[in-house]
Amino acid sequence: MKMTTRGSRIMALVAAAALVWACGAPEADAPAADSGAGPPNIVLILADDLGYADIGIYGSEIISTPHIDALAASGVLFTDGYVSHPVCSPSRAGLITGRYQQRHGWEFNPAGRDVNAGMSLDESTLADRLKALGYRTGMVGKWHLGHQEPHHPMSRGFDEYFGVLEGGSIFIDSSLPGVEYGSRRGEEGPTERRNKVLRGFEEEKVERYLTDVFTDEAVEFIERSAAGDEPFFLYLSHTTPHTPLQATAEYLEGYRHIEDQRTRVYAAMVASLDESVRRVVETLKAQGVYENTLIAFASDNGCAGYIGNACSNGPLFGFKRYHHEGGVRIPFIMSWPAAVDGGQEISHPVITLDYMATFTAAAGEEAETEDSVNLLPYMTGEADGAPHEYLYWRAGASVAIRDAQYKLIKLNRTDFRPENLRGDGRLQPPEGGWPTDSPHGQLTLLYDLDADVGELNNLAAEQPDVVARLEVELDSWRGTLLDEQILPGVRSTITQIDGEWVQLVF
Ligand code: CA
Repeated sequence: MKMTTRGSRIMALVAAAALVWACGAPEADAPAADSGAGPPNIVLILADDLGYADIGIYGSEIISTPHIDALAASGVLFTDGYVSHPVCSPSRAGLITGRYQQRHGWEFNPAGRDVNAGMSLDESTLADRLKALGYRTGMVGKWHLGHQEPHHPMSRGFDEYFGVLEGGSIFIDSSLPGVEYGSRRGEEGPTERRNKVLRGFEEEKVERYLTDVFTDEAVEFIERSAAGDEPFFLYLSHTTPHTPLQATAEYLEGYRHIEDQRTRVYAAMVASLDESVRRVVETLKAQGVYENTLIAFASDNGCAGYIGNACSNGPLFGFKRYHHEGGVRIPFIMSWPAAVDGGQEISHPVITLDYMATFTAAAGEEAETEDSVNLLPYMTGEADGAPHEYLYWRAGASVAIRDAQYKLIKLNRTDFRPENLRGDGRLQPPEGGWPTDSPHGQLTLLYDLDADVGELNNLAAEQPDVVARLEVELDSWRGTLLDEQILPGVRSTITQIDGEWVQLVF
């Protein structure tokens, strides 16, 4: 384990966060049922568009997240945790199947018009696998892997579902007292719920702040399940802090001093996420099942540049939509008090694809996939070294690979310019989606992440041998993927990197 100055700071924060639990939430004597015997319960908490440095223990200087920090202190903080795609839906498809989503055709974010499309029905999900191992399975929150009945979470291994199937949802009526909408332009926030909140397959009217409602549902699922004989798997997939930026007075209270409205509201949204983690952990403790519960926490992609500096990826370059670190490196925490020592930090690259092997190994029968590595031996100290030699990314023409030290990114050059962008910051795609070839060729970027985590110094021209080696690995991986995807890549934007205009497809 490399211990940098930043690493030392994290360890100091881990110690400080440990005190939060020690002082603020003394543990009662654990009941006999919480001894750690038998397969653990598994709780996966996913945030939406939460940036790498938007929580205290990962370096936020403006947002306080004592309960997420305490979760890290109780287990393992991964400094180099990744998702398999820099936007919502493909990232979730990789996470839920434990396989790079390009292997099963879900490479791009679905456009709103494709209402019948969904992730391949040939894939097994985390819920399918854990259910087969005797788990009670529940999901609360954002799905974003298909709208129709065959794609619904309850058709994909979950016994219960409460949430929104779509990619985004408003949190509350902006006209209610105390609600603030994070707009700089002064327009009114949404006052109608555009997205359906479902209990199972039936719509349910929700009037309160959506994050609180999701937390209530998660708490009730844990309470119901803890009383049963089977272990449980809960996938709590929050829509916060994705846009629209909306927060209630309760969460804004600690952030009134922040002048910038978007930053203030965003911070309050992260506070609601921290409160959710607090309530989940408290419920597990109250039910006597905390010690033998594996809790994982992550974000589905990095923070979004289009919300105007209201969020932070810290020292990382780029945002959601980018294959640079700011798009794909995310907070990544795992805790399992009965089996894993707290206060650990692991700096080897890991990825949310690893949940499949890790969770099923914890459940007693590891489900092997070519992409997913069981992280438990690394967390218990049985294994050392790097779980992955390489991690890979692809969204059409945009591709990337990293090893222990280097990251190679290739992006299509473009002659599109900002005046070609639509109001949503995207380009109008051609019929059938964006081609993977560019008449302008590709920009090749090589970064030494050890020396340059901010990906500011392109070494491609200086280190052609490293470029060539990583290109071979990348091409070899691409050769194992499907060329044809369920949906074409239609979404993209442009940005300037290293002095050149490139098109980012997502
Ligand atoms: Ca997202």
